[in-house]
Amino acid sequence: MPPSNLTVVSHPLVQHKMALLRDIQTPTREFRQLVGELASLLAYEATRSLETEPVSVTTPLETMEGHRIPKDRIVLVPILRAGLGMVDAVAELFPNAGVGHIGLYRNEKTLQPVSYYYKIPPLGGEKVYLVLDPMLATGGSASAAIAKLKESGARRIRLICLVAAPGGVERMMKDHPDVAVFVAALDRELNDHGYILPGLGDAGDRLFGTQ
Ligand code: URA
Repeated sequence: MPPSNLTVVSHPLVQHKMALLRDIQTPTREFRQLVGELASLLAYEATRSLETEPVSVTTPLETMEGHRIPKDRIVLVPILRAGLGMVDAVAELFPNAGVGHIGLYRNEKTLQPVSYYYKIPPLGGEKVYLVLDPMLATGGSASAAIAKLKESGARRIRLICLVAAPGGVERMMKDHPDVAVFVAALDRELNDHGYILPGLGDAGDRLFGTQ
């Protein structure tokens, strides 16, 4: 049974786009587009339980009570660099969202996260932080990023990834059981180089055409 903090979004549209995303033949331009589309679909699920507040709306026919997401409620926090590929699409859903950046890279030998950049918008108790990173491999980077956010005072944090390895999910459950994790796919395992199998390769390289 998957851990209770994990939601695998298995909507047919998500599965369809994931198959295209994983394909080695998918070129950079399409890969980037798919990462954005998948990030939107996952963000939709990750914000399903967001509170709304009443708002009076006048239609062409009458006045009614509508509902809106409180202003400045959402903060997007991509983990550099691959998380950047998810920001624009999610920001289209939440145009007022603040955007913070956390720069962590993985030491190729130790696989441990090393921090090189951290800047987030001013905190607010009610704010919901959507941490964005396409790949949840060992969970080291996500866990470290979320620990930094918590040190800054963030309390309501959700993690959105495209592909997760079981070990990464377990690490999140152990380090941050209060953080709900939303993924498009839970894959089999990591290889000796820390890549997820079957995975999709290096998300950053495929997004930005490096390698
Ligand atoms: N980061 C990636 O980009 N791909 C993986 O498979 C694991 C970590």
